Amino acid sequence: MQILIIEDEKQMAALLKKGLEEEGHSVTLAFDGQEGLEIARTYPFDAIVLDVMLPRVDGFQVARRLRDCRNHTPILMLTARDAVPDIVKGLDSGADDYLTKPFSFVEFLARLRAVARRGDQPRPLRIQVCDLVLDPATHEVYRADRPVHLTRTEFRLLECLMRRAGKTVERNALIEAVWGFDQEVESNTLDAFVSLVRGKVDRGHETKLLHTVRGIGFCLCENLEE
Ligand code: CA
Repeated sequence: MQILIIEDEKQMAALLKKGLEEEGHSVTLAFDGQEGLEIARTYPFDAIVLDVMLPRVDGFQVARRLRDCRNHTPILMLTARDAVPDIVKGLDSGADDYLTKPFSFVEFLARLRAVARRGDQPRPLRIQVCDLVLDPATHEVYRADRPVHLTRTEFRLLECLMRRAGKTVERNALIEAVWGFDQEVESNTLDAFVSLVRGKVDRGHETKLLHTVRGIGFCLCENLEE
């Protein structure tokens, strides 16, 4: 594969390049967002590894600008920490997957292969879990093909849980993602919104999708493993 790595930490970039070349791939390096954008627009790649924190143009902007000009090269985003708002923002901007630093090379390689397999076709940004479908672009939600009407806050809450489907999202992380860092939100406000969303999404359906993970947070999935 032809891979572009956009990463300003030179040591990290060199390490990834060496590992990928040992696996038989060709690697081009860019050390800031602007340079990365120019290279990505000029040459074809099978996948782009994109760091979020970059000089000149950050990773979110790089992904968004590529997608805006119909470049659909698969993007694996590297985030500095497991910050839900960063991850949501990354996926919103057009990244296909993300990896939190530090990561093992084996995991990096597996994720990179998985995103590269998607090819450079435009991908629908709709998110689906079981028979629940959410379209971030139109803000439409359907359960079993019937529209679910959510307020703006309810939508953000559901979107955050759906983007991390199958994983438990901690209460604080959810509050940050839905209301932002600078908002003081009472814990029972979160519970109130979760119960509103649960009512709209799960009521009348045999399979419940929105689960409470006691003492930790919430998980959206078909079967919660206890
Ligand atoms: Ca960086």
